Amino acid sequence: MAYDLVVIGTGPGGYVCAIRAAQLGLKTAVVEKDKTFGGTCLNVGCIPSKALLHASELYEEAGHSFGKMGIKVGAPALDLPAMMKFKDEGVDGNVKGVAFLLKKNKVDAFQGTGRIMAPGKIEVKAADGKTETVETKNIVIATGSDVARLKGITIDEKRIVSSTGALVLPKVPAKLLVVGAGVIGLELGSVWRRLGSQVLVVEFLDRILPGMDLDVARNFQRILQKQGMTFKLSSKVTAIDSSGAALKASVEPAAGGTPETIEADVALIAIGRVPYTEGLGLDGVDVKRDNRGRVAVDAHLATNVPGIYAIGDVIAGPMLAHKGEDEGVAAAEIIAGRAGHVNYDVIPNVVYTYPEVASVGKSEEELKAAGIAYNTGKFPFTANGRAKVNMQTDGFVKILADAKTDRVLGVHILGPDAGNMIAEAAVAMEFGASSEDIARTCHAHPTLTEAIKEAAMAVEKRSIHM
Ligand SMILES: Cc1cc2nc3c(=O)[nH]c(=O)nc-3n(C[C@H](O)[C@H](O)[C@H](O)COP(=O)(O)OP(=O)(O)OC[C@H]3O[C@@H](n4cnc5c(N)ncnc54)[C@H](O)[C@@H]3O)c2cc1C
Repeated sequence: MAYDLVVIGTGPGGYVCAIRAAQLGLKTAVVEKDKTFGGTCLNVGCIPSKALLHASELYEEAGHSFGKMGIKVGAPALDLPAMMKFKDEGVDGNVKGVAFLLKKNKVDAFQGTGRIMAPGKIEVKAADGKTETVETKNIVIATGSDVARLKGITIDEKRIVSSTGALVLPKVPAKLLVVGAGVIGLELGSVWRRLGSQVLVVEFLDRILPGMDLDVARNFQRILQKQGMTFKLSSKVTAIDSSGAALKASVEPAAGGTPETIEADVALIAIGRVPYTEGLGLDGVDVKRDNRGRVAVDAHLATNVPGIYAIGDVIAGPMLAHKGEDEGVAAAEIIAGRAGHVNYDVIPNVVYTYPEVASVGKSEEELKAAGIAYNTGKFPFTANGRAKVNMQTDGFVKILADAKTDRVLGVHILGPDAGNMIAEAAVAMEFGASSEDIARTCHAHPTLTEAIKEAAMAVEKRSIHM
């Protein structure tokens, strides 16, 4: 039987695309090579990492701030296997939820590795080697990404781990070396620091969180240092010797120079992710890729081959679950003859540490590079009543607005619950708000969101509580 659409991969891009297509009346199927649906995000990414971040944050709070609020508990004790079980149950609930949604929407599922034989023809090879051919009018490639590797360093997922291994460590490493100060390195570094590891982060660049607003990144680094994380910036790990009881990493200045040896029990390689297209047969059907191996698509998410589309981590853009989801919806709508669209200027980016870091739109560096004149409004959480009473005053909100039109161009939040609060900024920007629009919108008191309103007022130097 021929389908209207077959989606290869069931991460947040793929499963959302399939559900939207089914809603629009397309006969739809998915192909998934793993045992469970949900891709990187649900199985070894967003969901398990957030479970461990949540649990480890409460563990740290129980040890540090409960007493100050008059809650007397003994020193918290860590039961790591139980914490891992809590995380695994969260993953299980989420992946089962995707299976339920696919079924509910009458999306057929093929278990196995999908290979595009020709436009409209996919061979699915199951784990036992059996193959079947699926025919379809359209194909969406949603095969996601894989861990980027460091030349000469073998990830064994036991002592030299990727994020996947770092989510299942059987005991707390005394010394954890994190290679890469991006989102994943800082999130998982935070988890293990809270649980008792000494964490050193080595970063090639002279700053953490490359791509995010520099002012935010510098302030965030200071906070992480106060928490006990240490950093070695402008440095590179060139080799890791795993022959002895302790790992011995060679670390040298990024520009080259004398290497030093740093010992660790576990090394987490978190230098980024690369598009995953292995076994898909793209060369056989001449689907073009860009110079970084990503599937090349046009503004309608179409590849150069008619009837083949691509979405999510396997194409250009931020490797984020919600970006893939929005592309999934857009691709389904385009295939169904509607006007699907993704606004790449308004994609929030969140680091789920404590405090959280969240941003949407342009950073100051991007605005300067583009020669766009802007005004800045900044408001610290030390001046926000709710943050003060909760003893969570680290960080600030910063709003960047066009100097001529006052249109909001970027919002950056370093602070408690920043990941939830950034949604307000995204909605405002999607509607083309000015900073004055936000400043004149009534915000409930006492909430952390008042800091957003105050930052908007600060654009015109009229914040009340500063
Ligand atoms: C530790 C970690 C934490 C993260 N945290 C966040 C976060 O908090 N927020 C956020 O937005 N993003 C986060 N991400 C990123 C997020 O996981 C990805 O952006 C997202 O999963 C990409 O979705 P996708 O659908 O493009 O691909 P994926 O989720 O990678 O899914 C691709 C799927 O395709 C399948 N597949 C591949 N090839 C084939 C084939 N030939 N045949 C059949 N199936 C195939 C794979 O098995 C997989 O299930 C995190 C990532 C990691 C590693």
